[in-house]
Amino acid sequence: MLVKGVVFYLESDLPPEAKFLLEDFRLTVNNAIRAGLQARVTSRNALCRLAYKDLRQEHPRMYAKHLVSAFEVAGSILRNHRKRVRKGVACRIPFVKRLMMKAENQAYKLDRKSGVIDLPIRAGCHVVLRLIVSQYHRKYLDDTALSLGSLTILPDRVIVAFRKDAPKPYAPDSVISLDTNERSVDGLFAKGDDIKALKAEFPDVAMIQQRHHDRRKRLQKKKAHDRRISRELCRTEGAREHHRIDYRMHQVADSILKFAEERKSAIVLEDLKGIRAKRSKELNRRLSMWPRRKLHQIIEYKAQWKGIPVFKVDPRNSSRTCPICGRVQDSRMGIEFRCECGWHLDRHINASINLLQTAISNGMAGGLRFNPGAFQHDVMMILYDPVTGARSEPNGTSGICVAT
Ligand SMILES: [Zn+2]
Repeated sequence: MLVKGVVFYLESDLPPEAKFLLEDFRLTVNNAIRAGLQARVTSRNALCRLAYKDLRQEHPRMYAKHLVSAFEVAGSILRNHRKRVRKGVACRIPFVKRLMMKAENQAYKLDRKSGVIDLPIRAGCHVVLRLIVSQYHRKYLDDTALSLGSLTILPDRVIVAFRKDAPKPYAPDSVISLDTNERSVDGLFAKGDDIKALKAEFPDVAMIQQRHHDRRKRLQKKKAHDRRISRELCRTEGAREHHRIDYRMHQVADSILKFAEERKSAIVLEDLKGIRAKRSKELNRRLSMWPRRKLHQIIEYKAQWKGIPVFKVDPRNSSRTCPICGRVQDSRMGIEFRCECGWHLDRHINASINLLQTAISNGMAGGLRFNPGAFQHDVMMILYDPVTGARSEPNGTSGICVAT
């Protein structure tokens, strides 16, 4: 079952009854967390058995399903907490700070035509939430293949979970293999003997990382006298960096998936699981893997949602191997890959040829054949162009859009 959360804003503020419910819910979650910590339980059912009676007495009129869903939320927080304790990451007793509540799918009604939510508060008291529905939202509301999951309510917006069974991936006619790098995704589109290079560049992602890194450094120095403020400011900085990169990665992923869907291609990615750059602090940050991991995550879940087959292969030696004669070189420096046998090609694209060969020799891409000799050296397809792709940022921090 695949789940996608869609954010809706409300036509007007939350009614006061709903605000009280949010506060009650938060209180219940925090109480359940405390009870769970004392009794060392983390599952919803165990928490229910443990604390239902007490909390029922404290909130005698709260709708019973909301109470159960509070245990669910508390359980997942407790499980995360336990994981971090086991990892040895020192952390404080968890609690929910911001106002929120989660309603199970039987605990609310959404009229998908009008976009109106009917939320029960307690016996005899319901509130109506009117959602702002755009074309984007219509796509989900009108799709009958999607069923409704849980509803998360925040003071200014709600998140509706849409669920569907994972569609069966199509049988591919062609294949795209992608080598993910710091500033671009480089790859190959192969359909029989039609083999072309692909490129999707995101040079501003590395720049954003650099800029936010510098800014955090500066903040730490400036606020060295107050660790609390320094930490808080750095956290805000980090969230902003995350959002900006996330946004770009979604755009890159969308353009790749659109290309693949139109040509009925399978996608081959390198498996980034074991890859870690642990050398020096400086290099570590420069080679930060998370934008690339994020991109893969986005590609994978969106492809699953659309039924596009994705294969992951071990990238070992992919940037050092000659796809024609099979020699493995010692160095991986330079923009161009040159082999003694005469083969030469852009190093990143060469890596994607090797990824595709690994995928095919592992029997992943169905009955597709592949002959690297048929590669067309003079053709380059641009999947994503950052100049037209990214939203301009008026503060001039994006290197692409120079403030005038
Ligand atoms: Zn060679």
